[in-house]
Amino acid sequence: MIWLDFSMFLVLMGLFLYVFSSSSVTVLHRIYLLLHVVFMLWPLFQFASQTTTSLPFRLFYLSASYVGLSLLGIGWFAFILVLTGHYYVIRRSRLILLSIPAVISVAVVIWNPQGMFLSINTQLESMKQLQHGALYWVMIVQLILYLSVSLIILLYKLSRRDDSVRHRKMVRTALNGVFVLSFFAIVDFCINVTYIDYFTRYIPLVSIGMTVTAAYIVHAISRNKVFDIIQIVQKDVMNTMSMGIIVMDENDMIIEVNKVIKPIIRLRIGDFFKPEALAAQFKEGTSKQLLAFFEAQRVRPMDRHEVELTIDLAQSLHIIVQTAPILNQKKRIVGRVLTFQDVTELRMLVEETNTQNELLHERNKELLIMQDELSQANKKLEHMAITDGLTGCFNRRYMLQQLESEVVTSLRYGIPFSIFIFDLDYFKSINDRFGHLTGDEVLCSTVEAVRSALRLTDVLARFGGEEFTVYLPHTNREQADIIAELVKSTVEENRVPTGVGDGSVTVTISMGVVSIERHDSNELEDPKSFLRELMAQADAALYEAKYNGRNRIVNRKLA
Ligand code: GH3
Ligand code: MG
Ligand code: MG
Repeated sequence: MIWLDFSMFLVLMGLFLYVFSSSSVTVLHRIYLLLHVVFMLWPLFQFASQTTTSLPFRLFYLSASYVGLSLLGIGWFAFILVLTGHYYVIRRSRLILLSIPAVISVAVVIWNPQGMFLSINTQLESMKQLQHGALYWVMIVQLILYLSVSLIILLYKLSRRDDSVRHRKMVRTALNGVFVLSFFAIVDFCINVTYIDYFTRYIPLVSIGMTVTAAYIVHAISRNKVFDIIQIVQKDVMNTMSMGIIVMDENDMIIEVNKVIKPIIRLRIGDFFKPEALAAQFKEGTSKQLLAFFEAQRVRPMDRHEVELTIDLAQSLHIIVQTAPILNQKKRIVGRVLTFQDVTELRMLVEETNTQNELLHERNKELLIMQDELSQANKKLEHMAITDGLTGCFNRRYMLQQLESEVVTSLRYGIPFSIFIFDLDYFKSINDRFGHLTGDEVLCSTVEAVRSALRLTDVLARFGGEEFTVYLPHTNREQADIIAELVKSTVEENRVPTGVGDGSVTVTISMGVVSIERHDSNELEDPKSFLRELMAQADAALYEAKYNGRNRIVNRKLA
């Protein structure tokens, strides 16, 4: 039978190595491995005690095995605490307090005062040589204590429904472990301690119990992945996310809810998810939006759906709700994930950016208006710079500029052109008779009359006082004579009201005309002096017209 203990040790050792090498080590795994080591102590030293006949050695080995047994309760207890998520209990101060019974038990085993825990009576037959004293009960009581508390915690955990299916499976596995171990311990106690007289052979039932329990747990670990690190990590990740997550199975039963959701929405694991109940927690508009969202999900369950809700609490919250199916390898829906993401800050940022954009847009508009006004003012200035303020026709400066460029072009390409210079006859007397204002009106009216007789391409400019110039492009002498006559007669027929009663006044003009039809090539070399000469000729013609009695036209033909 002693080899049974040793072989149990070997099995436990093998299982230990298997768990250690194959598992991703979490806190839970580590605690389990510690418990497993404790499991191994008992069979190892039971075996050792039977390999020697030396009394002190036997006593030493047996004590060592009982030390292992004493630690079984607390080891199991710690494992259960971690398994059920109560590991926050294991703070250093509490750990010391909680381990007092086990420490006392270990102390009693090692101290063993006058063999009050364990003694060996070599006088008796080998099966009955082990004598358990009164202190033996210290160990038994603390073991019962730890196992009972573990049992209570497990049963309590199992009675609560707000855990995931997987977690409940873990708890159930541990509970079965407690039962198996307790069963073997009780039977062992009965056989090897209480009713030792009825048995002829030592049966190491505690060792078998430990091994069966350990094998059961290791099997559960490897087959069901009950302590799977991925599961734990996933849960951790879910709980540290800022997004609210609800996971449902294919029957809409809630199987996971992360920490973010819990304070916001009243939901419990194990309940069936009811869209109406969720929608009812919000105001009418939001509620309707949510119901429409879930209806869309019902109609098209394979699609991912999304809705953005605005919830008015202390501040306006913007929440994006998404739903997506969880598919298995055969693309069949096995569940559904519902997520809630708070995008308030993002929306506020977007709003802020939009406001800034609008402001910028407004500023831009103002700038554009200012730019437009400026360009209008510029145009006005430009206009003012080239026009005569009283009559609205071009001024002397513009006319000279225009002539300078036009004359060069016309000369170069041999295009004929003509120039008029005319002056109002006896204008001084009009001023004297009717006043300056009427004089101004006569000036303006005469300009209008002249303009009506000219062509669109002809350029009329006030040269100074009551003297004007006309540039007639593409106009030979013949055409110029006709236009000059037309201008003269139009002015002559033009009546201007004097402002005194119904009276009106007419004026006449004297005009000098020069026409260029052919030219010399050296005229091109100095167009400015040619122009000066041209104007002088026109002036002379005007003078001649005045001299000859006014209201007439004098022609000069250059070249
Ligand atoms: P002539 O037939 O020899 O040209 O006689 P005239 O009286 O027209 O000539 P004169 O040079 O003696 O007089 C020109 C007058 O034109 C003098 C001036 O008062 C007047 N005048 C010049 N510019 C303006 C103006 O802008 N408005 C008014 N009302 N009169 C002007
Ligand atoms: Mg005059
Ligand atoms: Mg004059």
